[in-house]
Amino acid sequence: MDIYPPSLGNLIDQFSKLPGIGRKSAERLALHVLRSPRELAERLAQGLVEVKEKIRFCSICFNITDSDPCPICSDQRRANGTLCVVEGPGDQLAVEQSGAFSGRYHILQGVLSPLDGIGPEDLRIAELLSRIRNEDVREVILAINPTAEGETTVSYLTEILSEKDLTVTRIALGIPLGGDLKYIDSMTIKRSMDNRSSCTP
Ligand code: ZN
Repeated sequence: MDIYPPSLGNLIDQFSKLPGIGRKSAERLALHVLRSPRELAERLAQGLVEVKEKIRFCSICFNITDSDPCPICSDQRRANGTLCVVEGPGDQLAVEQSGAFSGRYHILQGVLSPLDGIGPEDLRIAELLSRIRNEDVREVILAINPTAEGETTVSYLTEILSEKDLTVTRIALGIPLGGDLKYIDSMTIKRSMDNRSSCTP
């Protein structure tokens, strides 16, 4: 038997459906909402509904945005001839937060996964090709995660982009900052050897 009143039990159920939130955390969150001023609950509820109502995909880069085209696609200074291709909005956010890239993005909305029936036509690849034609793109940087599906996607894109008059690069894969060779898998060490760079004083 549920020890909580139904409305509280329901809130706990909903919180526990969120990623990374176990039953205990969901209880803590629900009890926190209960103890907090009504305003917090109202803002939370409003925020949840608003994100579903207002957020859509940019019709150019397919990133999530409140306004279409998104601020990056609307910014002429970012049209510098480089396109950074990522799997999803979370990856775009990570690259953007690093401050390491000043061009525009293209969000594939996934990776190729033949076992799950996800082929090129399920991703935003046709749109990528038409952007390359229309936006004077000179370099495509593949910032795709090194998973099995990511590797398949990188091979596929490298193949079809090799026919175009542009440079295709991939972000370096290797030892993370603060990492320790003793605990790094052989594939990563091999990649790091292959991608080694010159030491400049
Ligand atoms: Zn955009």
